[in-house]
Amino acid sequence: MLRPGLAWFRVAEEEESVRYLSTRGGTAPRDFETVLLEGLARDGGLFVPESWPRLTPAMLEGFRGQPYHRVATAIMLPFLGGAMSEDAFAALVEEAYRGFRHRAVVPLVQLGPDEWALELFHGPTLAFKDIALQVLGRLFDHVLAKRGRRATIVGATSGDTGSAAIEACRGRKSVDIFILHPKGRVSEVQRRQMTTVLDDNVHNIAIEGTFDDCQALVKAMFNDAPFRDRLQLSAVNSINWARVMAQIVYYVTAAVALGAPDRPVAFCVPTGNFGDVFAGYVARQMGLPIARLVVATNRNDILARFFASGEYRMGQVEPTSSPSMDIQVSSNFERLLFDLLGRDGQAVAAHMAALGEAGGFAVAPAELAAARALFTGCRVEEAACRDAIADTYRTTGWLPDPHTAIGLAAAASLKPEGVPMITLATAHPAKFQAAVARACGVSPALPAFLGDLMDRPERVRTLPKDLAAVEAHILSQALITSGAP
Ligand SMILES: *Cc1c(COP(=O)(O)O)cnc(C)c1O
Repeated sequence: MLRPGLAWFRVAEEEESVRYLSTRGGTAPRDFETVLLEGLARDGGLFVPESWPRLTPAMLEGFRGQPYHRVATAIMLPFLGGAMSEDAFAALVEEAYRGFRHRAVVPLVQLGPDEWALELFHGPTLAFKDIALQVLGRLFDHVLAKRGRRATIVGATSGDTGSAAIEACRGRKSVDIFILHPKGRVSEVQRRQMTTVLDDNVHNIAIEGTFDDCQALVKAMFNDAPFRDRLQLSAVNSINWARVMAQIVYYVTAAVALGAPDRPVAFCVPTGNFGDVFAGYVARQMGLPIARLVVATNRNDILARFFASGEYRMGQVEPTSSPSMDIQVSSNFERLLFDLLGRDGQAVAAHMAALGEAGGFAVAPAELAAARALFTGCRVEEAACRDAIADTYRTTGWLPDPHTAIGLAAAASLKPEGVPMITLATAHPAKFQAAVARACGVSPALPAFLGDLMDRPERVRTLPKDLAAVEAHILSQALITSGAP
């Protein structure tokens, strides 16, 4: 079973700072700042802490009734390994959540006896990614300023991640951010959430091509070593450890509100890249009493198939009404695999090579049993997703978005007896207005602060899907902003 006491689990000593290993075992331990700025390890692996800091029952009791930013500071601080003083970090975290439009930051809503939704969408772009990225953008700025450096963040988006990254980086002194989106292929709300941000360091590029073209261009820029080094290219994508770290916090606040440390809880997590639900696993490893983690997927069900069979095999990506979960290779899954394989980096590297070469791999029966002791996978069809939206609205008056509805449908069929089940509500329904209206006839309005989104001026540069043209544009713009000759 995945719990404290296994060989790889070691409680961090108070004075010891957490160091980070690569899941592929090919790099020396790194400190937090390196992990933050590099994102991906040089051997292609993902960074994980060498040991888990410990949440004691007394600490959990102490979190009761505390503001979110205080609990967040306490939980994240041990992972920083001295990169920031406690006071400076506390101020950073307080500022990161000040702009959220709910005083609880992540309020719990009751939907039935022992059934809850955790609203993670009160940040600036109406999706849960704001919770981690609002901290990440500030951490980047702090660490770069300390080193007297600048960085250029480059990313591709099919809609959702781009706006959260832009909101996290806007106005920051040490970073320029360039987000590529496929021209005419994101919704108007999604485009405007990006292009109406007019800060000097924010650069939107509409590529005449598809999302895959955008991703290929970003990848090519990272593979162009002189370009990468000259601009200090960096990414804030979902494999960055700091994003997982910031997501641990709301598992803790929700569990404490419903009875931890005295009473265990279960979570149901709408899943794509496995980042969010992996944060729940980390909370469990740190000592939070989590009885079960339900991994809810849409038709793109590589994870549900894995937890059913032990086989991790790529499929064809199919579009659904929950597009942020339309993923067939879940990058953060490698972090769980590392633990399932006894933290053997070479074994992880061999499995990932098989994924690349043969399209999949299987784990041994004992490894699958260990995973299933905590995780249950569940695939939810489009019809069940629509029903969950309509039923939840009819029986509670609370309106879920399609991603959340995938979670609610899975939770309804898998709730453990006598344990509160908390489904993570990952997006505001107004972000997916059309799908919600189709399901239940109600068209959710954008919150007041976005009411004039359709009238705001936009700034975006259209470019062909041509690496040289994109690099030339980025080079000129980044240098202008940084004041270099
Ligand atoms: C990104 C996203 C998810 C999936 O989260 P992962 O960390 O990739 O598993 C689910 N719902 C929404 C609304 C998202 O934006």
